[in-house]
Parts: sequence; structure tokens; C-alpha cells
Amino acid sequence: MKVSKLVSFLNSKYPFKISSREPFKVLISTILSQRTRDENTEIASSNLFSKYTTPQAIADARLEDIESPIKPAGFYRVKARRIREISRIILRRFNGRVPSSFEELLTLPGVGRKTANCVLVFAYGKDALPVDTHVHRISNRLGLVSSRTPHQTEAKLKSVIPKRHWKPINAQLVQFGREICRPINPQCSICGLNALCQFRKKRLQIKQK
Ligand code: SF4
Repeated sequence: MKVSKLVSFLNSKYPFKISSREPFKVLISTILSQRTRDENTEIASSNLFSKYTTPQAIADARLEDIESPIKPAGFYRVKARRIREISRIILRRFNGRVPSSFEELLTLPGVGRKTANCVLVFAYGKDALPVDTHVHRISNRLGLVSSRTPHQTEAKLKSVIPKRHWKPINAQLVQFGREICRPINPQCSICGLNALCQFRKKRLQIKQK
């Protein structure tokens, strides 16, 4: 698959505008998004941020008062503990500011590569490439990568996509994955990338047999 074709398709279909969001909200929403659907994350984040907007407010809150608004995101007991712990660490070690380096972000509990990269891109506008389930699935289907884990996908994508194009990839593929290249029943017949896609090619070959 030609990377330049993918990039120009995504840029024309899903223009990316950098709108630096509040780092604390990006970090907490991404924690909430772990192991749940996008729509549940949106509800839980909006519930939580209507009550608490700062690390101090969450650090001082009772656990049950954090659990209740984030219930729609699932695993709410674990996530509430984690969110409060992260808020306390941010106050104690980072002066109340979400760190802006990858290495420092990874020191926070429950923060892995995807979450750290999301904060770098969506809060600080840095060149990073967060790989979530959409990015992992679509990259493999297209044949851009052949990988088993999101970490392998991230490394491979970074080696084939020029750094100047990394920033929009996550947001663009998430949208594409929701609309067209869905986890189940991808809309291959109307997909603008179907002529380049390995998954589609294999499906057609099987049908012809
Ligand atoms: S052709 Fe199908 S599998 Fe390939 S990218 Fe498009 S929707 Fe996804």
C-alpha cells in the first residue's frame, strides 16, 4: 500500500485541525476510554468534568463520588482509584501540570504508550502516533503493517509514515474506523481505499474460489 495515497485520502476525507485541548482532560478521558466503547467514554467524561475540572478537585474527592459519574465507562472502581492517584501525583510531583514528555507520562499509573501519545498529540500538539484498536485494526487490514500488538503497529507505522504526517493519523483512522472500516462488517464496497487494501483483496480471492 502506498503511504502517500493513504495520507492524501485521509487528509481530504478527514481534515485535521489541531485544537489543543486541556491536558488534564485529555489524560483523564483517555484513561476512561480504556476497555470501553467511544460513546461510553464520552458520557463518563462529560459526567465527570461537569463535577470536577482540576487535579486538585479530583485529588480531594471521595472515591465513591468519582465512581458514580464514570460508571458508564465500565471498570469504574479501578478507574476511579487510578484517576485520583494520577491527580495526586500530578500535584505532588509535577506542580499541578500534566507532564508533556513521553517518559514522564509513562511514570503515571495506568498510563501506557497510547495514553501518553494521545496527550502529546491532542493536548500538546506534538508529533506522536497513538495506536488504539482502530489504528491497529485498519493498519493491518490495509497491509501497512503485519503486527500482533499495538506497540508493534506503532513502531512499524513510524517507520513507514514520515514524521510530519503522524499527528493526524489517530483522529483520522478513528473516524474512518467508525464510519467505514468497522470492526465487524467493514463497508468495503464503498470504501475509498478498497483498491489498495490487502484484506479486501483476500476476501475477493476467497469469493472467486
Ligand atoms: S476495503 Fe474494507 S477492510 Fe479495507 S480499509 Fe476499506 S473498509 Fe477497511
